[in-house]
Parts: sequence; C-alpha cells; structure tokens
Amino acid sequence: MTTEGGVLLSMTGVTKIYGSGDAAVTALDRIDFDAHAGEVVVIMGPSGAGKTTFLTIAGALLSPTAGTVQISGTNITALKESELPPIRRKNVGFIFQSFNLLESLTALENVGLVMNDATSRSAGNRARELLTMLGLSHRLKSLPKQLSGGEKQRVAIARALANNPDLILADEPTANLDSKRGHEVMLLLRQIAFDMHKAVVIVSHDHRIREVASRIVWLEDGTFRSDVVTDRDPVCSRVVEVEGAPHAASGGRSYYFCSDQCMKLFEAGPERYVNISAE
Ligand code: ADP
Ligand code: MG
Repeated sequence: MTTEGGVLLSMTGVTKIYGSGDAAVTALDRIDFDAHAGEVVVIMGPSGAGKTTFLTIAGALLSPTAGTVQISGTNITALKESELPPIRRKNVGFIFQSFNLLESLTALENVGLVMNDATSRSAGNRARELLTMLGLSHRLKSLPKQLSGGEKQRVAIARALANNPDLILADEPTANLDSKRGHEVMLLLRQIAFDMHKAVVIVSHDHRIREVASRIVWLEDGTFRSDVVTDRDPVCSRVVEVEGAPHAASGGRSYYFCSDQCMKLFEAGPERYVNISAE
C-alpha cells in the first residue's frame, strides 16, 4: 500500500542505545527521517556512525529504544514481535554488502525461496522474470560460488524485489564490488526507484554512490548533520556538496558542479542545461 504523498518510510525521534550502564552506546540519537516513492536516498557516514543500526531499524529487523517507525503507513513500533515477519516480507527488500545468498541453492531458488507463495509455479515464474530483468537469464541454475560478485549482488537485488515491496534498503551494496560492477549495481538501484516507484535507501561510505542519489544525508555519531548543503549539478545530474564545489552564475542564481569539466560545459552554453528564460 502506498500512503498519501508517497511516504513509504517515516521515522520520528528514533533512538537506539545498545547495552546499559557504563557500557551503554547511543548508536542513534533522536533521528527523524522520511523516504518517498521514486527516490534514492543515500545516507553517508564513517564507520561506527550508526548506518547499519539505522537500516536494520528502518527494516523492522531491530526495535528502537525510543521513537516511531512507519513502513508503508503502518506504525511498526506499535506492533508485537510476532506481527513483524509478514511486514518485513511484504513491504521491505534488503540488500546486504555480503550478498547473504544460500550457498547450496541456485540463483533461481535463492529468489523463489523468499516469496510469499514460494512453492507455487507462479513464484518460480516471477523469480525467473526478475532474474531475467536483471540480466541473469543464463545464470538461473548457477550456485552462488559459480557467480561473480556483481552477479551475486544482482541475485540479491532480485531477491529483495521478490515480493514487490515498496521499500528497498541496501547496506553498503557496492563495498565488495569493483568499480564497474559497483556502478552497474548503483544504476540498477536507481532504475528500481525511478521506474518501479519504490523508495530506495542506501547506506554507504562509498562516495561513488552519490552519482545515483536523489538526496544525500550525512550521519555522524548517531545524528544527521544539518550543515551540509547540496545541489544538483545541472550538467551530469550528480548531487554535489555546495561548499568548495566549482560554481558559476547564470540567470541570477548559482549552479554547482562535480568537476571543472562540468562547469566548463555549462559555461559554454548554460541554455543547454537550464531553462534560463523561466528564471
Ligand atoms: P555503521 O554501520 O555506521 O558502521 P553501526 O550501526 O554498526 O555503524 O554501529 C553504530 C555504533 O553502535 C558503533 O559504536 C557500534 O560499535 C555500536 N554497535 C553496533 N551494534 C552493536 C551491538 N549489537 N551491541 C553493542 N554496540 C553495537
Ligand atoms: Mg555498517
């Protein structure tokens, strides 16, 4: 179910404290966050910032110490533990850094296994369709050990899409991939958000992933930094951090670029990239 305004994930005042007493660690400190249909939100932050904690709470795999989490309009923090598995299965697709495929099952079986109607023929057909969509029609019967890292991650993406969830959560999805395979995976995640109208939330410390972001937020010591201003490079569409970026003025406003090369292209013909008459 898609809620009004397309908010598929909404977190309010989410805090997570691991342990207690002197050993207590505040991994998340009163986080507010929304993700909408059709966008790729990238959450960047150094190791230990709370990224994995954030994502596991967002996906109903871990309960927060305080705060509320809504997935596709359902307040999951008000539910009992026993009520969560169907929500996870139907509404959330997870993609992990280490792929987490079952080694004794084929690509097709790994995808089919998680489907609501796993044993039916239609589940098998949908698993096949998903893998074919992800360019793996020749790998259906392969075991994970026979697949490259990029192929394994595409099987994991197919598995995340198995029950057609609204929300896709990816934890460092490119960390174990070389740059070409990492790039392919990023483009697939963008396609899933844009073409299938899902909310894709990626946590990563890989700066290359910015290329596919609709929005970037910075997590540090369990809180979102509010002081980082970003804008979209009008030439290549990348999200760039405004501070320190090459910039140029046109039609009464400033534009920011990922590189001098994009800035030069822009300066040679701004009207090719922005609608100047509308300013
Ligand atoms: P990231 O994914 O950004 O590296 P994590 O969410 O894994 O960050 O961790 C955030 C903080 O919480 C770290 O200080 C980490 O040591 C701590 N932490 C994570 N998981 C646990 C746990 N199960 N028990 C205790 N502390 C934890
Ligand atoms: Mg992590």
